[in-house]
Amino acid sequence: MDNSCPRSKNNMIYFANPQEQFKSFKTEIEESISRVLKSNSYILGEEVNCLEKEFSSFIGTKFAVGVANGTDAIEISLRALDIGFEDEVITVSHTAVATVAAIEATGATPVLADIETDFYTIDTNNLESLFSDRTKAVIIVHLYGQCANIPAIKSFCKEKNISLIEDVSQAHGAYFKNLRLGTYGDISCFSCYPTKNLGAIGDAGLIATNNKKLFDKIKGIREYGWSEKRYISNYAGKNSRLDELQAAVLRVKLRNLDKLNNRRTEIAKRYTKFLEKFDSVKTPKIRKESSHVFHLYVIRLEERDHLINFLKSKNIFPGIHYPIPIHLQPAYENRLKISKNIKNTELVSKEILSLPIYPELSNEQLDYILNCLNLFFCRK
Ligand SMILES: *Cc1c(COP(=O)(O)O)cnc(C)c1O
Repeated sequence: MDNSCPRSKNNMIYFANPQEQFKSFKTEIEESISRVLKSNSYILGEEVNCLEKEFSSFIGTKFAVGVANGTDAIEISLRALDIGFEDEVITVSHTAVATVAAIEATGATPVLADIETDFYTIDTNNLESLFSDRTKAVIIVHLYGQCANIPAIKSFCKEKNISLIEDVSQAHGAYFKNLRLGTYGDISCFSCYPTKNLGAIGDAGLIATNNKKLFDKIKGIREYGWSEKRYISNYAGKNSRLDELQAAVLRVKLRNLDKLNNRRTEIAKRYTKFLEKFDSVKTPKIRKESSHVFHLYVIRLEERDHLINFLKSKNIFPGIHYPIPIHLQPAYENRLKISKNIKNTELVSKEILSLPIYPELSNEQLDYILNCLNLFFCRK
């Protein structure tokens, strides 16, 4: 490998870069946008309708509903399940704060479990000790692009007769066994924030389910609780409509999602092949019988902060997902119910680093990053 590591001045490489994706679908996206502009229908129209059908058929559920963002998707799902005040919902502290914010938005209490260090997803051994007679649901987060331990969580929820919600905001299109994530829970939630594997050009979210009753209720809650008839609210709802522009852009991206995910996987393979040689770095493990769509490529190492500074000096800007566990953040510290043992979450947050990964990252850019990593790990 070429050991020279020139500093590329005007060529910053970030851990995600949604603009590059716009460039690669420019014509199709601009056509879609222009179609919406001329349609005189800007919110919950044909584009949203079509997206919902295309998305549910892609995921493999009977129904899908477009909403304003991923946080709302979770809040609306919980409300559709009648979860709110005095109820508890189990999830993890190692996730986007959105997961926990959505639980609190319903009035319910988040209860936070630890994670397993191999996959960074919920430690199912925690579940029993966190369960109480107020527990109404578990939200599993399929973090970084692959699934949590679905069989263990599913059997726990079944045994306790509580609901299972999947937060698939980081794993659009990934599989467990022969089914896509989002088909295993009672309801599943997807953020389509611009950097996600399926990303809009603004805020957007999707909810999927096989249950007709829940589907009707979710559609109602999305728009003031209206059902068939406008101006008649059957449920206490909110405004979380998806607009046509976002839906039209998402339809273009959805048609290409498997291809985009394959490119992410390809990049991840190159990172892993290269980094595996260094004992001080822990590369991502892929769970048996599942695919990993690498929303993020997360490594773990003790000298994390040194590596970040080094890469920054080379115009490479990694991320940290997430630097502070939710139960230690100012807004939540000392007031959430958490697992007695949440050590892995706290340890991992100090050592994880997200290397640049997005489908449009070129092989030249990847070579450059690998060269820089090589320089860092062979520097002594
Ligand atoms: C991005 C994300 C969300 C929140 O989605 P928004 O669209 O930003 O509201 C929720 N959960 C996880 C795991 C996420 O990564």
